[in-house]
Amino acid sequence: MPRAKLNFSSGPAVLPEAVLRNAQAALWDLDGSGIGILEHSHRGKEFLRVLERAERLVREVGGVDDRYAVLFVTGGATQHFAMIPEQFLAGGTADYCHTGVWSGKAITEAKRFGTPNIACSGEPDFTATPTTMTWSAAPRYVHYTSNETIYGTQWAAPPQAPAPLVCDASSDIFSKPLVLENHGLIYAGAQKNLGPSGISLVIARKDFVETGSKNLPPLSQYRTYVNEQSLHNTPNTFGIFVIAEVCAWILAEGGVTKMAERNARKANVLYDFLDASKQWRGHAARTSRSLMNITFRGDSPELEERMLALAEERGLVNLRGHRSVGGLRASIYNAFPEEGVQRLVELLDDTERGRS
Ligand code: PMP
Repeated sequence: MPRAKLNFSSGPAVLPEAVLRNAQAALWDLDGSGIGILEHSHRGKEFLRVLERAERLVREVGGVDDRYAVLFVTGGATQHFAMIPEQFLAGGTADYCHTGVWSGKAITEAKRFGTPNIACSGEPDFTATPTTMTWSAAPRYVHYTSNETIYGTQWAAPPQAPAPLVCDASSDIFSKPLVLENHGLIYAGAQKNLGPSGISLVIARKDFVETGSKNLPPLSQYRTYVNEQSLHNTPNTFGIFVIAEVCAWILAEGGVTKMAERNARKANVLYDFLDASKQWRGHAARTSRSLMNITFRGDSPELEERMLALAEERGLVNLRGHRSVGGLRASIYNAFPEEGVQRLVELLDDTERGRS
């Protein structure tokens, strides 16, 4: 049965139908084992196969070589805002690229453990990723948010930095080929492009992990996840299962290069409409436009409300912008269908022309 709603949520967000069907079957019986995925021991051979498959598929999708570890950490991306400076800052300095709400939260956490230097900033309106950087003398790492989910901006390429890059890739991981070069650590909450909320994927260079503080509880050290295959305690077994399924789906669809082509095509349909429209306009500067979260506004609050009411009637949901910035936002991650973007453009056009 086709779904009644087109879900533009920024996360948790739409997942591929094939993934949801496989998850549904595995809830009852994982791979013919007679026990469901939620009920299997995390130390049993059935789940260990799931874990190994998840790691293998993450490596295949992302082109992740042996210099890097693939880790599954319980908790979302917010957890890493503190975990990273707690381990790697140790009273020193790290450079932060400030591109919006999420980098702001990461900076706030870093202040607990050392001195974050704001190397560049898109303040006050965060329409573009910065181009002028002021690096500090010896940063331990350089943190950036590859896609700003709330403002709808995205780095076209990682910043050129004087220290290992640490990237919050929560809202664009595997939407295009992964760049590992110069990165010490990449983390991503799963609930946009990877799976359910409450679990994050970390891809960490092993030698960078080794530079982290050892004087912390085991679950606060990335090395614990490296040394114990993310099994120091009971991990989110179901989340790991779903991440593996999403990776298998990405590969079946042609991999991240195909994802990137499709994502560009999808986003351009909407940006082209916004560029040509007299009453709707995009938020992000052309050079920094996100292909994942498209933020836009109408000429008046009245127009926006009329559009949202019509959207509701037509089953297009979760188009309201984040509460901190207002306006509208269409989140169109990997699994969001191309025809859904077309339906949104028709809706915006109808609202502009006063049709209902
Ligand atoms: N970073 C980015 C870029 C995000 O979009 C989000 C969630 N929207 C987070 C961090 C926080 O993720 P979580 O709520 O899973 O901790």
